[in-house]
Amino acid sequence: MRYMKYGLGVLAFALLVFISWLTLTPAPQGILVLEYHHVSDDVGDDGWAYTVPVADFAEQLDYLQAEGYTTITMQDFMRAKKGKQELPAKPVVLTFDDGYEDNYTTLLPMLEERHMVGTVYMITNSIGRKGYLSWNQLRDMQNRGIELGSHTANHQPLTSLDREKQAEEMKLSKLLMEWNGLKTIYTFSYPNGAYDEGMPELLKENEYLTAVTGDGGLNTFKTNTYLLQRTNIPHPRLGLTEFKLRLFKSEVMTRLGIHQHLVNE
Ligand SMILES: [Zn+2]
Repeated sequence: MRYMKYGLGVLAFALLVFISWLTLTPAPQGILVLEYHHVSDDVGDDGWAYTVPVADFAEQLDYLQAEGYTTITMQDFMRAKKGKQELPAKPVVLTFDDGYEDNYTTLLPMLEERHMVGTVYMITNSIGRKGYLSWNQLRDMQNRGIELGSHTANHQPLTSLDREKQAEEMKLSKLLMEWNGLKTIYTFSYPNGAYDEGMPELLKENEYLTAVTGDGGLNTFKTNTYLLQRTNIPHPRLGLTEFKLRLFKSEVMTRLGIHQHLVNE
């Protein structure tokens, strides 16, 4: 019994030290990348977990602005890394996977209203299908400041394919968008967040500059640009509190160095 009390005391002390360390040391500086899918009040049961309702999304955008965040694109990030551009004090990249039609009808006006930008990762074989963005919508979005990226041609987890097929998914999706009059595609999102050690090199060979994972954390110029950290924002059960907790969790992951993809120097 005495030993148990002693054990609990040590545990409580360790927890106190950890919490003090989290709250008293300055937050890590870095570029936040958020991962969304649908922004809508109306999707089927299938998409529920991947859907942020309009009011929640508006609240999140307003919170980011109130906290001093400025939206940037992946291209801004790369230009800043090369010293060609300055980044704002608190940069955030808003990313949207799969390329759903609500990204055009609902999300785009909400971003424009707030002078914000975002990055949409398109599954190119879904372009023009029911519920997905059309070519005209994609072109219009790009003209209105949205950055487009590739989320492969078929949305198969790349780790389930051989190298040749992986390269094909990277290459064909990029070329299809460029051949259809969209600006050069430089950024990539791994379907299901699934990647392996060989993929950064493969993306480089296929002329991509950045790729996003589903691993939480903040990015710096030392983060592997083909394995960028990204904070997932699913359907919130706890409103804005959950959103704040998710940002905090990414901060903690960065502090503790958990799943952080730093380039060895
Ligand atoms: Zn996806």
